[in-house]
Amino acid sequence: MSIELKGDDSEGVTYGNLQDFWKQELGSTPSADDTSAPSAHPGKRQQWYKEGLKYWDEAPATVNGVLGGFGHITKYDISSSAGFLRNLPDLQFNRAVDVGAGIGRVTNGLLIPLFKAVELVEPCEAYVRKAQETIKSPRLAKVHVMGMQDYKPGSEPVDCFWAQWALGHLPDDDLVHFLQRCAAGLAPGGVICAKENTCQNGTFHMDKEDNALTRCDLHYKHLFRTAGLVVVKQELQAGFPVELTAVHTYALRPAPATAPLDTEMASK
Ligand code: SAH
Repeated sequence: MSIELKGDDSEGVTYGNLQDFWKQELGSTPSADDTSAPSAHPGKRQQWYKEGLKYWDEAPATVNGVLGGFGHITKYDISSSAGFLRNLPDLQFNRAVDVGAGIGRVTNGLLIPLFKAVELVEPCEAYVRKAQETIKSPRLAKVHVMGMQDYKPGSEPVDCFWAQWALGHLPDDDLVHFLQRCAAGLAPGGVICAKENTCQNGTFHMDKEDNALTRCDLHYKHLFRTAGLVVVKQELQAGFPVELTAVHTYALRPAPATAPLDTEMASK
């Protein structure tokens, strides 16, 4: 099942549908629905990731740098996220992974106070260095210097993957694969949380400056479903400056297994 979306980019180019957009960005790419197909034009995909990283390599390794000048929202952002996590049923607080961790803003403010062990996934080396300098807690368990597209959870089960303002750096099909790998690494009661900017439903917007895609709520939900996940909780962030687009936080868990069709039929 595909989804009907129209989009544009920061250079004024418009796209009549999502497939045309991905074709232009990545070559004739498999859609998120067809996750088994091999990727065409790997060079274009490498270029996509290189451009995203180039922006972050040149941005300052500060809270204002990772938040594009909105560093002052951190306190409010973190307290809302803490409330969101504390109210999730069945969640244990052993191990969290901060995905697209930047300089460790979320790790320091949210995850280290709540979880016994925290791992970071972050490809920008200057940010990783800054995170290692500023995170003093022995709870910092591991730092994976790599992109989400290459990350695979280790053998320790993870209670919470937290991805904030980072998923726009993944093309749809890589996002689906990434979520599936995270789901396979979840502890019982674990969640994948995504806190992301969203645009008006039915649209997408590509920012050519940092090479990130803003998706709408429907687009995200389509990809979550394709990855075999269900949204167990969703919250629209309140109280952020009006210049910011709507920020949604999603908590995702693997969809409950349904009986195969033929077993259902046989039992009738
Ligand atoms: N989540 C952090 C940082 C947000 S800024 C916070 O809320 O403070 C976006 C981060 O995503 C940057 O640190 C950038 O280096 C990282 N990023 C960019 N491309 C990525 C990729 N392919 N995989 C993982 N992280 C990526």
